[in-house]
Amino acid sequence: HQLMAESLHIINGFAREYFSKTLLESEEGQNVGVSYFEERGFTQDTIRKFQLGYCLNEKDAFVKAALAKGYNLEYLQKTGLVTIRNEQPVDNYRGRVIFPIHNQSGKIIGFGARILVKSDRAPKYINSPESEIYVKSKVLYGTYFARHAIDKLNECLLVEGYTDVISLHQAGIENVVASSGTSLTQDQLRLIKKYTNNLTILYDGDNAGVKAALRGLDLAIEEGLNVKLVLIPDKEDPDSYVQKLGAPAFREFIEENKQDFVLFKLQLSMKEAGNDSVRKSQLVNDIAETISKIDKVEDFTKQQDYIRQCSQFLKIDEQGLINLVNKFIRERL
Ligand code: ATP
Ligand code: MN
Ligand code: MN
Ligand code: MN
Repeated sequence: HQLMAESLHIINGFAREYFSKTLLESEEGQNVGVSYFEERGFTQDTIRKFQLGYCLNEKDAFVKAALAKGYNLEYLQKTGLVTIRNEQPVDNYRGRVIFPIHNQSGKIIGFGARILVKSDRAPKYINSPESEIYVKSKVLYGTYFARHAIDKLNECLLVEGYTDVISLHQAGIENVVASSGTSLTQDQLRLIKKYTNNLTILYDGDNAGVKAALRGLDLAIEEGLNVKLVLIPDKEDPDSYVQKLGAPAFREFIEENKQDFVLFKLQLSMKEAGNDSVRKSQLVNDIAETISKIDKVEDFTKQQDYIRQCSQFLKIDEQGLINLVNKFIRERL
């Protein structure tokens, strides 16, 4: 197992370097890859820092180089860099720009490969398959670049995508990691908890973004995180929005629009429930369940604060909400 993991790290390291060189030193890399990144507003420094790359739009340029180096075809397939088509090994990321994914010590555990022009026939991103070294539910993109800033600022920003992380770094906001489009897992939240108790979610302004953020809320609270939310305007994501506003205005936007996630959830469900009394009592239940997940021993005052604020919002009796919260706690014992 250890040997396998080490081999996959080595192959990924080779691929990372190969794709970087292709981007920076080949004509196609410059004309296609670098132009693409420049159009997105990424600087040379950013390209180098995140070790971005490009895979030539040729059938097997990469796999040929890797085999010539002596790397094992079976392992090359395991990394997802190579597939077999008509009994021939071919490159999987042909004509795509490459985002290497680093583990916490900087080794390459996988890649995201983005198509240059959106198409109905091919996925926008191809991500590495799961392997001995790449378990998606345990990885957050960008931790390697963010850990010191998270530690220093005692806050972790969470975004959806690779390019969100990269653009925020370029704007000087370095305490940021990405869930890479999947719903948040307990392991990912524990990873954040190792560095800070304060999580701020910056998800895309579309409905899918809000839904995804809501799904992660209870889990995050269970892990003992204080969760804040910033809603990015519709049709934008942190990447597009920071590029549009510029760094100072974007920072201001974040500070002014940071809100407590539990209270946000409450207001949102109140809006949705309207005057429907069945839905209203359902939402009281939901919010009580969320509040019940705050650790009473560790965060007693936090739980009390939420109960007070939520009962005021809902115009219901505080003791009634306390009883309901306690009922959820008892049911889990
Ligand atoms: P870009 O700005 O390059 O279009 P994005 O990060 O804004 O990328 P989203 O559509 O917001 O892209 O998706 C968020 C993240 O979800 C991506 O960064 C990627 O990790 C993942 N993702 C998106 N589309 C796919 C896909 N078709 N297959 C696998 N993963 C995907
Ligand atoms: Mn989105
Ligand atoms: Mn985007
Ligand atoms: Mn996005």
